[in-house]
Formats: sequence, C-alpha cells, structure tokens
Amino acid sequence: MYRDPEIADDIRQSMLAWRRDIHANPETAFEEHRTANVVAQALTLMGLPIHRGLATTGVVATLKNGEGPTIALRADLDALNMQELGGNKPHISTCRGKMHGCGHDGHTAMLLGAAAHLARHKPFKGTVHFIFQPGEENEGGGRVMVEEGLFDKFPADAVYGMHNYPGLPRGRFAIRTGTMTAYLDTFEITVTGKGSHGAMPETGIDSVVVAAQLVNALQTIVSRRIGATDSAVVSVTQIHGGDTWNVIPEEVVLRGTVRTLDAGIQDKVQAAMLHICDGVAATHGARVALNYMRGYPGVVNTPKETAAAATAAASLVGEDKVDTNIPPAMGSEDFAFMLQKRPGAYIIIGGGEGANDPPVHNPYYDFNDAILPLGAAYWVALVKQQLPAA
Ligand SMILES: [Zn+2]
Ligand SMILES: [Zn+2]
Repeated sequence: MYRDPEIADDIRQSMLAWRRDIHANPETAFEEHRTANVVAQALTLMGLPIHRGLATTGVVATLKNGEGPTIALRADLDALNMQELGGNKPHISTCRGKMHGCGHDGHTAMLLGAAAHLARHKPFKGTVHFIFQPGEENEGGGRVMVEEGLFDKFPADAVYGMHNYPGLPRGRFAIRTGTMTAYLDTFEITVTGKGSHGAMPETGIDSVVVAAQLVNALQTIVSRRIGATDSAVVSVTQIHGGDTWNVIPEEVVLRGTVRTLDAGIQDKVQAAMLHICDGVAATHGARVALNYMRGYPGVVNTPKETAAAATAAASLVGEDKVDTNIPPAMGSEDFAFMLQKRPGAYIIIGGGEGANDPPVHNPYYDFNDAILPLGAAYWVALVKQQLPAA
C-alpha cells in the first residue's frame, strides 16, 4: 500500500467535482472553451494569474514564490470524437459523439488539485507554470502552444507530463529514459495509371495492380530493410479506387500510418517508401506520388528529469512500485513537442483495478477517480523535490 498523499479533503472533493463536470461536458480539439473556462475560474479562485489563448483554448497559470528555479507541469484538456457507452454513471457524456475516453478530464483535475495545494501552502522558492493544453489527441495542440511561444512567455528549466493507464495497477507508476512513445507519421500514395476498359487492360496502365504491388512491397520495409532489434510499423489502412465492374480506374489512392521509435529509423522508413514508390512506378509506367506527413515525434525523456520523476513517484508509493524501464509504446503523444524544447519527463500513473478494466479509447472507459489524490500528490512531490524549500 502507498502512503496516503497529503492532499486535503476539500481539494480532493474539488478534484472529483472538476473531473466529473469536465467528463460530462467533453470538448474536442481547440473547442475546449467551456473546459478552459472551468480551469481558468478554478485557478483564478486560487489567486493565480492566468494566461489564456495559446493554441486558442490553452490556459497557463503561474505560481511564483520568490526567486528560484522554474518548473512547468502539463495536463491536456481535450476529449475524443467517440460515443460513450455503458452509461448509468451520473457523469456520463452529455454530448453525443464526444467522450473523455483518454482520461484527460482526470489529468486536468489532478493538475488543478496540485495547483490548489501548492497555492495554499507555497512550500517552495521559485516558479511553477501549470500548462493546460488543448487538442492532444490528433491536432497537436502541444505543438501549436510551443509555436505560439509557450516557453518564451513562460520560460521553464524543465517540463513534466503525466498520463493515466488502466493497464497499470492503481498505486504504481512507470517511466523510462529515452524514447517512451512512437514517432507517428501518416502517408498518402496516389497511383495514376491510364484508365481503360476492364476487358482490354492492354490499352491502359492498371492502377489497381500497381496499388496491389505497392501494398506488398511496402511490407518489405520492416521485414527486409529495418534491423531485427529496431522497431517500425508500416500499415496501409485505406485503399480507394474504382467505381464499377468493367472500368479499370485511372487512379487509386492508398493511405496509412508509420510508427517508429527512433528519428534515424523514421528517416530510413520514409526513404525506403519513396524508393519503393519510384521503383514500382517505373516497373509499370505508372505515376506514383508519395505524400509522407510527419506527425507527432516520439516522447523522449531526458535522463536527469526521468530520475527526478521516478524519485517523486517513489516517495509516494515506494521504489518497488515504480517501474523505471517500461518498454516504449507504439502509441503517440504530443507532449513530445514540449520535450523537443525543454528537458523533461513523461510518466505513466496506474489506474487499473482489475483485468477487465476497459483500456483508454474504449467506449466503456472512465478515468479512475481513486487516483486523483495520488496524481496531485505526485505533482506536489515533484515540485518540492525540484525547487528549494521556502
Ligand atoms: Zn488518447
Ligand atoms: Zn491521452
């Protein structure tokens, strides 16, 4: 069992209320106006100056207590475009087709709880920035905040993030130094042949056959060009072409995703895709255009800050409950853009109660309220450890 975190009862109750209110009123990328209002109002009541409008709906609050180092703590505000199911819970989504299916409602509540505790006790010398970012799921709100000058307006020595994970039992944390989540890229390949009668393929260039060969050839990137101890995923997830039985279409479009754990492997996969597209095009006399779009980079934790995060977590749950060498995940996270600008670390907080817990992005998922105090206590422990005592 972990030691009971030091968060006071009234703050625990506030966290529960914020979490459920935000859950019931989910908003997606850059439309988190109500959520941002809830956050801004709570922070203002704590007496913290706030800044609004970075990446449209972002909120940043600053707690300064004398001179000292500066630390930035980040939570995400957005929900998913999915329908919540399994609902006799009182706080079920009131918005059809939108749901807090990733627990960002809980992340926001935990960081607000930490802000409330730190604003009340001011147990440090220095500055804490509380960053509430929009649009984590697909739209890169973290990137937009950074591009709009997040760390120019709010300079920080280091930045920290946290995500809940139902697959990890409650009372545990997990982290690793280096790459923790994958580089996420997408691609679109347009195959242009020469449309013809389905009975007379010799009069055209069959874009369907070219596309089929591309699907197979792309699978040789991971199996034949990437080393067995390196990691990459290349998935063609869409094929669009043709309208009827007896016409060979002029054009077929393929789309898909690439995930890697290393920037060098990412470059290698992209180069190999281009090579294959050009080669297959030349073989058939078709045109094959590759549009390779880089998405979220990997979350890369820096060693010193990873150790700091692990120590803060261990101070609450004990060293044996903090896994400091979890394998990297092939999922992605736009906190990566903040880590490209500042040293920092992203930690997983366990939220699991049993084997049947729905995973994140499942329509039956719900953030586990039992971890709200522990999450807030983690932020508090990290601040107290990283900034000198008041
Ligand atoms: Zn998510
Ligand atoms: Zn998430």
